[in-house]
Amino acid sequence: MPVPGLGPYDDNNIFARILRGEIPCKRVYDDAFALAFHDINPQAPVHVLVIPKGRYVSFADFSAGASEDELAGFFRAVGAVARHLELDQPGYRILANMGEHGGQEVPHFHVHLFGGRPLGPMLAR
Ligand code: AMP
Repeated sequence: MPVPGLGPYDDNNIFARILRGEIPCKRVYDDAFALAFHDINPQAPVHVLVIPKGRYVSFADFSAGASEDELAGFFRAVGAVARHLELDQPGYRILANMGEHGGQEVPHFHVHLFGGRPLGPMLAR
């Protein structure tokens, strides 16, 4: 099923280049389904990005096109990253920006994981 409003995957986007090892990252987790690394411009004491290994432009693309194994493997990895960073207690926030109104900048699906302080309201007011 085509996903409206999304372009084809760009193999030269910055996260594709990180996955290929062409650009360095501060890696925190790596498995068959996901890679996690520190955001280059952190918005909280802990700000980690979790990305799937597959070529998915956005959450819309990933949720529509990924296999059951990729879906399960990726979201289990997000939880594993949070546990690895010892964030379950006192808690954290996950967020995915999608498309223009979501403010997505990098066209490879990613989940932001924020923690390390009380994070305040969900959206800027
Ligand atoms: P988004 O607006 O959801 O697409 O977020 C993209 C995020 O990627 C931003 O928080 C950037 O700071 C982050 N980012 C961009 N380039 C890099 C990079 N080379 N390494 C780590 N994080 C990056």
